[in-house]
Amino acid sequence: MKFSNRIEQVNPSMTLAIDAKAKEMKANGEDVIGFGAGEPDFNTPERIKQAAIRAIEANDTHYTPVGGTNELKDAIITKMKRDNGLDYDRNQILVSCGAKHSFYNLAQALWEEGDEVIIPAPYWVSFPEMVGLAGAKPVIIETDAAHNFKITVDQIKKVLTPNTRAILINTPSNPTGFAYEKSELEAIAQCALENNLLMISDEIYEWIIFDGFKHTSIASLSKEAQKNCVVINGVSKCYAMTGWRIGYIAADAEIVKKVTKLQGQSTSGPCSISQAASIEALVGPHDDVLEMVREFEKRRNVMVDQLAAIPGVSCNKPNGSFYSFPDFSELNGKKDRNGKVIQGSLDFTEFLLTEKKVAIVPGIAFGADANARMSFATSLDKIEEGVKRIKEAVELLK
Ligand code: PMP
Repeated sequence: MKFSNRIEQVNPSMTLAIDAKAKEMKANGEDVIGFGAGEPDFNTPERIKQAAIRAIEANDTHYTPVGGTNELKDAIITKMKRDNGLDYDRNQILVSCGAKHSFYNLAQALWEEGDEVIIPAPYWVSFPEMVGLAGAKPVIIETDAAHNFKITVDQIKKVLTPNTRAILINTPSNPTGFAYEKSELEAIAQCALENNLLMISDEIYEWIIFDGFKHTSIASLSKEAQKNCVVINGVSKCYAMTGWRIGYIAADAEIVKKVTKLQGQSTSGPCSISQAASIEALVGPHDDVLEMVREFEKRRNVMVDQLAAIPGVSCNKPNGSFYSFPDFSELNGKKDRNGKVIQGSLDFTEFLLTEKKVAIVPGIAFGADANARMSFATSLDKIEEGVKRIKEAVELLK
């Protein structure tokens, strides 16, 4: 069978692969502790589930308009004003089947061969793949722990070419957990506007922030920034709704029109019931969200403090999302009990899974081989036990 070059160049998701291996070990009765989760371990709040049940009972089960119902668009408009101080009209909103779908659609509608899109590393695994699928070139800017994995304007200027079309910002970030300060975003926005770059701002972890941090949308910095920015958001992470598959963009009406055309010939509108539930998620009382975030903050403190206390491991405290991104690179060059030398994040995570049955995601999947991603969307007991096992594993390396 011949397949397209397009599909042959896609790399399978490494985050899903490690998760699958850990699940298989668990299914075989092994006592695996998994830190691979890319989703809250909380269930969808009751108020949101009830809204979905009401939608089913009201026979809200038909096709919706391609870009989402007016009611959901209005809820998104209310949310953008409330949380980000941004004004949008309905023709500037497009609802898709998850934020991943939103970005995929955008990439298809905006870029093609010859175009370059700047992506800061560590990046969410799917960004470069989806840019590549559109035929465009992901231009990776590497960041480091000393700057909490955030890019600077100097770095952007170094990679600009006449073909650079856009820059992607993900705040708070998957996988690093760090969120940009307003002043940092101001500098990036100014540079983007001066160089005619479209800003793509993925803010899907927006509500999951700690230590009183205030999230800023780069689109909110000026009218010009808003016009030249596509905000991507969704209900998956902040409302524990990963399975409902609702994401959205807020952007210039011309962009929304083109992307809606693509969606009209591919998926059509997202699930009607999920859309009804998402209205309640976005505009209902947020006590459940705040409670989940408080719990994540407690877990972050335990995970990061205990990791950073292990000799050979360093870990900055992230201010958002539910990931920590420890650096294990000091352990490179050491040998395990069988004499195998650890030479990077793949070796280390493999060693950890085999030796101590702890699953973490190798940083190389996110373009950062010194690190690994550990999700704290799991119970405090598991975090304590898992980090204890990591400490024991590190002590075995000579
Ligand atoms: N953006 C980022 C940064 C993510 O981490 C994820 C989920 N892993 C998504 C977008 C996609 O989320 P969804 O498709 O569930 O809305």
